[in-house]
Amino acid sequence: MISCQGLIFAPVPTLTGRKNRARGKEAYMYKVFEIEHGNVEEKALVSSYKVGEFELPAITVGETGRGRELGILAVEYPDFNPKTSFNYLKFARVEKLSSGKFRLVKADKQEDDSKAIIVFRTPIGFRGSNEHTGDRNPAGFYCSSCKKEWGELKPEEGDRYPGCPQCGLATFLKRKFLPFPGEILVKGKIAQGDAGRMGSGQQIVALVPKDVVFRTNLSGRLYGKPSAFYYIFNGQKILAATWDERQAFGLF
Ligand SMILES: [Zn+2]
Repeated sequence: MISCQGLIFAPVPTLTGRKNRARGKEAYMYKVFEIEHGNVEEKALVSSYKVGEFELPAITVGETGRGRELGILAVEYPDFNPKTSFNYLKFARVEKLSSGKFRLVKADKQEDDSKAIIVFRTPIGFRGSNEHTGDRNPAGFYCSSCKKEWGELKPEEGDRYPGCPQCGLATFLKRKFLPFPGEILVKGKIAQGDAGRMGSGQQIVALVPKDVVFRTNLSGRLYGKPSAFYYIFNGQKILAATWDERQAFGLF
């Protein structure tokens, strides 16, 4: 068989070489993780994406169909075997193609622990959505109706918060979160129902910095699943915990 990778990727300039160095940006080898709302794997599944007669290695997020969007992140994977489902990526470089899209190149070790490549297979709650953010913002709460900021408010019982001190409506009161700290390499969209009308959410692959908290949050009916998980990459591992676990154990 002719190498399909050679055929497809040959015209693409490799950023590990001269072109990349010219921009002062080396393509380092990072650890790769996969996170499904609280569940962390130290590898990511590379699937086979069919382009004509070729089966090309790629990490895909989201899904195909109306109201949905499949995000495709090409992977250069020399020993890729489309016949098996055991093509995993543990380390990779990030390259930018001339199209402006990113691709990953399989590597055999971690060279730079300042960032990690993370595949977020974040689900959505029933008839709900999801979000990827940074840590809780110390600025506390704001009201999406009267636009006032209220600082930290105490929960009444359990996880329930009082209403906006001005409007009195709890539904308008939202906690502020810092923006998602990672650089997004590709985005996809999952959904429920015809044309995604019942609910939809994002799945992403991102380059996430070390020692910075990030979070996945689900809305909709969760059937007992925690709505939010907080994470931190310490250079080697990713720790996942709920807010209560972070508080109880004094974690990050
Ligand atoms: Zn208000």
